[in-house]
Amino acid sequence: MFCGIDIGGTHISVGLVSSDGNIACSEMVQTRTVAGVEDMIDVLADVIFRLKKQSGSPLKGIGIGAPGGNYYEGTMVSPSNMKIKGIVPVVALFKKKFPDVPVYITNDANAAATGEKVYGAGKELTDFVVITLGTGLGSGFIVNGQIMYGANGMAGELGHTIAVEGGRQCKCGRRGCLERYVAAEGILITYREVCSEMGVVPSANTAEDIYSLAVKDDGPAKETFLRTGNTLGASLATMAMITAPSHIILFGGITNAGEYLLSPTRNSFEEHLLESFRNSIIIQRSAISEDNAAILGAAALACHAATAQPLQPLQPLQHNSKT
Ligand SMILES: [Zn+2]
Repeated sequence: MFCGIDIGGTHISVGLVSSDGNIACSEMVQTRTVAGVEDMIDVLADVIFRLKKQSGSPLKGIGIGAPGGNYYEGTMVSPSNMKIKGIVPVVALFKKKFPDVPVYITNDANAAATGEKVYGAGKELTDFVVITLGTGLGSGFIVNGQIMYGANGMAGELGHTIAVEGGRQCKCGRRGCLERYVAAEGILITYREVCSEMGVVPSANTAEDIYSLAVKDDGPAKETFLRTGNTLGASLATMAMITAPSHIILFGGITNAGEYLLSPTRNSFEEHLLESFRNSIIIQRSAISEDNAAILGAAALACHAATAQPLQPLQPLQHNSKT
């Protein structure tokens, strides 16, 4: 069994997962009930011991998906409604409770990508990208069958690449980040802009409402998804020309908009690609259910680390020596 822990702003999910991706048992802890980091580790360790007893199987690894999770440093950024702030050495704290069990952490989008690689649509794929669309926009890159962490362990911040120069203010302190256009709040802002341009009183308060309106053939709602897809497709094209994935897997609540979002995204994507990349990269929705994804992704991190073949070292370059 591998333990998957997803640490979020509102709740923390813990589950035990078998190697073939079945969640044997799980529990949820409200983040606000946790007094601080030490308390969180105590509470989660109790949950893990209880679940382990329930399942009766040995624990082979613990994987954690968390905001700002850094694979190399073993740290995370404390969730905003937890009392202790700043960088938390989560892996070291878990190792004190579980000295014989390997513990890994990464950010939620990388965990989602690992979940797709180990249990989902990416099983047979070596190069793909998972884009998580919800309150934020996250991305996890699988390159040559391995998750891409980069030199600092933080690779894959597509949501904070600049989509519109000098555009909407982002909470990261900069302007025009993709996330401000293609995640929940950004879509709502676009909808209000469209309504104002069309002289219509806005009637939606969430991205979900906008989808419900689009289904009823509402003009501003459909225009909102068109603009959102255009922006997303252009950014995905830029990204795809760097890592050349075979698939782009979209995941999260926003993807429930289905073809209202996917169709303009694909059109804009193809339009912005180099000729040599066109009609070869598949954009699809994830097949993993959203309820299970967080635990599966985190558990997959531990499972992947335990079973993945290490990358072969690169062959030394052949130098064309003239001597
Ligand atoms: Zn930003």
